[in-house]
Amino acid sequence: MPDFRAHRHPVLAVRCPDCGKAPGLWCIRRSGPRANELHLSRRAEADSVFAEQHGPEASIERDGDGWTINPHGRAGIRPQAEDA
Ligand SMILES: [Zn+2]
Repeated sequence: MPDFRAHRHPVLAVRCPDCGKAPGLWCIRRSGPRANELHLSRRAEADSVFAEQHGPEASIERDGDGWTINPHGRAGIRPQAEDA
């Protein structure tokens, strides 16, 4: 079961459907040696697995050097400004 708090970015908890990078490893992009962004499909995958695991109302939030799961944050993995 993916642990969304275990990595430096929550999205890293799932394998990338796009470039195939394993959990914990940053995405590869063909255009350069280093990717600064994670693939959209991976974000979508992480979001859906996260909602499955923690419920549709949960969110994950930065907590010092790590991450903490808020069961009623309602934001998923994406930071959300609206609805406040
Ligand atoms: Zn990727």
